[in-house]
Amino acid sequence: MCFGDGTSYPSVSHNNGRSVDTRYLSSSKDEKKKVLAFKKFFFTDIITGTSGWYAGLPSHKHFDDHNDHLHTGVIDTSKVKVIKK
Ligand SMILES: [Zn+2]
Repeated sequence: MCFGDGTSYPSVSHNNGRSVDTRYLSSSKDEKKKVLAFKKFFFTDIITGTSGWYAGLPSHKHFDDHNDHLHTGVIDTSKVKVIKK
């Protein structure tokens, strides 16, 4: 996500943990479930790769520099419901 002080050099999209990178699971079926789960929880910037089955994942964007990891970022906070005790 980011370093302990909130920075994310060289990335500019991971500061303060706004985004997270994860390695792909071993099968497209399992990875698709993960992508859809992130979408269900209102992540709006999901990026996957362009090669092999990565290109078929239901992400928002596909870039070739994401052929080795899934980028998931930016929760739409307008959709988050705060429950107060
Ligand atoms: Zn990323």
